[in-house]
Amino acid sequence: MSEKNKAVFLDRDGVLNQEMGDYVCKLEDFHVLEHNFGTLKELQDRGYLLIVATNQGGIAKSWYTEDQLAEMHAHLKKLYAEHGVEFTDIYYCPHHPNFTGDCDCRKPKPGLLLRGIAAYNIDPAQSYFIGDRERDVEAGTAAGVKGILINSDQPISEVLDQIA
Ligand SMILES: [Mg+2]
Ligand SMILES: [Zn+2]
Repeated sequence: MSEKNKAVFLDRDGVLNQEMGDYVCKLEDFHVLEHNFGTLKELQDRGYLLIVATNQGGIAKSWYTEDQLAEMHAHLKKLYAEHGVEFTDIYYCPHHPNFTGDCDCRKPKPGLLLRGIAAYNIDPAQSYFIGDRERDVEAGTAAGVKGILINSDQPISEVLDQIA
């Protein structure tokens, strides 16, 4: 039996980039929070996979396209890569109940996390989900992962003591 991986799942807005109060629709409004570069490098060096899980209902609302979202995520990955940090994957829910009906991936549902857990052979019991909304913690709990609630744009270094 192969050994399982551990992961720190990360919400996007308010955790990796500045919370703008609503969906970020374009690259100019996508401001990466540079205070987390070193902290995520440390977690990566401690053996955690870093996986993003984000609600992007703005796609269902046609506020932006999947191509525009991909552009923002390429920018995010590039800035982190310059600091030696690699995201294993970026999962997003493109749905919105008012436009596309219910889905199993929009947080607080755990679908995005469950996909990552299955795809990368992750042990949820050794893993965490850092988010700035109660629904992030709920999604983590539903996936068997420990949720850590931060304030929007709060440095992750301030909650590092909650991660084994
Ligand atoms: Mg958020
Ligand atoms: Zn969804």
